[in-house]
Amino acid sequence: MTLGEFQHAIEEWIPPATSWEGDNVGIQVGRPDAAITNILLALDATVGIGQEARTRKANLIITHHPLFFHPLRSLTPKSRAGEIALYLAEHNINLYSAHTNLDHVDGGVSHAMASLLGLKNVRALSPLTGTLAKVVVFVPTSHLETVARAMHDAGGGKFTKYEECSFRTDGVGTFKGTENAKPFIGTQGVLERTPETKLEMLLETWNLDRVIDAMMKAHPYEELAYDVYRLENKSRMFGLGAIGELPKPIPVRDLLSVVKKKLGSPAVRFRGEMSHKVKRVAVCGGAGIGILGEAVKQEADAFITADIKYHSFQEAEGKICLIDAGHFETERHVLPVLEKRVKAIVRMRKSYSDVFISRTNTNPISYF
Ligand SMILES: [Zn+2]
Repeated sequence: MTLGEFQHAIEEWIPPATSWEGDNVGIQVGRPDAAITNILLALDATVGIGQEARTRKANLIITHHPLFFHPLRSLTPKSRAGEIALYLAEHNINLYSAHTNLDHVDGGVSHAMASLLGLKNVRALSPLTGTLAKVVVFVPTSHLETVARAMHDAGGGKFTKYEECSFRTDGVGTFKGTENAKPFIGTQGVLERTPETKLEMLLETWNLDRVIDAMMKAHPYEELAYDVYRLENKSRMFGLGAIGELPKPIPVRDLLSVVKKKLGSPAVRFRGEMSHKVKRVAVCGGAGIGILGEAVKQEADAFITADIKYHSFQEAEGKICLIDAGHFETERHVLPVLEKRVKAIVRMRKSYSDVFISRTNTNPISYF
C-alpha cells in the first residue's frame, strides 16, 4: 500500500472537507507513492516519536495534531516543526495528520471520550451544517435505473446506515430541438412531450462533482436538465463534541472520580457543587470551550473539555458544572479507534503493515 492509497482510503471515513477552515489535515511529510511498511499512531509528531517509528520499523506516522500550522520560511532545526520535519525526511518517515476531521466524525475524538465515560444515547453536541447537497435530475423513464445506478455508485444517496436513497416522481417533459440540435427523442423543430421521472438524491458535498459527472455520462440527453441545491440541514454524521446520558444520576464528586480514572487525568480543574446530581453530560476532546453555549442549551448538567480559561469558568456559574480534564487526556482515547480503522484499511488492501499505538508520552504538560 502506498501513502496515497492509504490517504484515499482513510479519507472516505474522515473527509478533509469536514475539517475546520484553515486547518492543515492530510500528508505533512512524504511522497504519495511511498510504499508503507509499518504504521505508528500518536497524538503529536516529535523527534521522540520519529525515533520510536524507526525502532518499530514504521515509515508512516499518523498524528492527530498537524505538524505545520504556520508557514515556514526555512527548513532548519531552528524551529520545532523544522527540526521534526528534517528528522522525518532524513529517515524516510512519512507523516499524515487527521485533526478536526477526526474531531468531527461520528465515533471520533469526543465519541471515544463519551464511550469511556459510559454515556448512553450519544449524539453530536454541535452538528456541522453545509455538508449536504441535493441533486435533482429529469430522466426519460426508460433510462431511470441506469442514471440512478451511476449516481449511487459515485456516492449519491448514501448515509450512515443507508444507501441507494432517492425520491422519484413521474411527469411529462417537453422540449423542441432547434435546427442545430440532435435530439435523443423526437425530431428537430417539433414540440415533443415525453414521459420523464424527476429523480432526487441527497449527497455529501465532497461527492458532488463525482456524482454529477457520473450522472452526465449515464444520461442519454444531449442537454440535460438538473438542479443542485446546497442544504442547511444539520449533519447526522459530522459534528463537534458529543452529548449523552449517564445510566443513572451521580453527584459531581463521583463524576470527577470517573473522569480522572477513565480518562487518566492526574488532576482536573472544575467548577460545580460536589453534591449536585449529574445525568446529562456533554464532552469535547481538546479545546472545546467554544461550544459551551450548546452544552448549556441542550441542558447538560456537566461539560468536560480542556484548555478552559479563568473567565470561562466564571461564565459557567449557575449554568453547568464545567470540568477541564486536560488536552492530552481528553484526546488520546481516539488512538485505539484510529488503530481499528487503520488495521481495517491494511486488511482491505491486503498489506502486511503492523499498526502500533505509540508508547512515547508526547504530553507537554506535567502535574506536580
Ligand atoms: Zn488537540
